[in-house]
Amino acid sequence: MKKLFNIIVFVLSLLFITNNFANDNGHEKKKKSEHNVETEDCSHVHWGYKGEEAPEHWPDLCTSFSACGGTVQSPIDISKAVHDKHLDPIIFDYYRTKTNIINNGHTIQFNVDKGSTISVDHKDYKLLQFHFHALSEHTIGGKHYPLEIHFVHKNSDDDYAVLALLIKEGKPNPLLTKYLNKFPKYKNTSFRSLGKFELIKLLPHNKSYFHYNGSLTTPPCSEVVNWYVFRTALTASKSQLKKLSQMLHHNYRPVQPLNKRIISFSSE
Ligand SMILES: [Zn+2]
Repeated sequence: MKKLFNIIVFVLSLLFITNNFANDNGHEKKKKSEHNVETEDCSHVHWGYKGEEAPEHWPDLCTSFSACGGTVQSPIDISKAVHDKHLDPIIFDYYRTKTNIINNGHTIQFNVDKGSTISVDHKDYKLLQFHFHALSEHTIGGKHYPLEIHFVHKNSDDDYAVLALLIKEGKPNPLLTKYLNKFPKYKNTSFRSLGKFELIKLLPHNKSYFHYNGSLTTPPCSEVVNWYVFRTALTASKSQLKKLSQMLHHNYRPVQPLNKRIISFSSE
């Protein structure tokens, strides 16, 4: 009799545990689906610069692209800026690097070795990569430059610093002279170079900048970017610019409303 009682207790407790476990599982599932609504995986969603995938449609293409319709978006036109003598110079800790040049279908991107950083506004940011837009995304006094290079640095998921370098027509650009013929023409192809180059030499000697807070200029357009646009433009030759613009297929987002933001500038 005692044995039967023990068996009943055992079966009952087993049922209790299983039931609880199922509840926990259900709870987990719910939490997960709530989470998915907020950060829907949009990596499969096609976006581009013309037709139904054009920038004006980005906010509607996928839930996680909704920031593209936000109020602190990039790029912007830089017409009025105020001098801020408290803006510190950017401190560069850039090293020689090998590179993997990739064509991701949206741009040509140079991935660089780990280790190069900048320090600005009392924070450190790691350089991840740099890439090209043609025409320029930022405009100065309403005017585009033929090319803009973005050096993307990250402190954390919600704190990026992007340095924007404008390129005008003039003398050949040494980086393009070295690598333009190696640029991968087709989507998802790449070129790995084991030869090293000096990152700091890609930047202008005078590193004063325009500064404002904005976003990534491509989906998901996250509003997490401290922008530093160099006030000094560098050059590339007419034929280099022509060749690059043919490869980039007008990959520039139109300027976004400034809204209440103030653009400041530093001097050296
Ligand atoms: Zn960019």
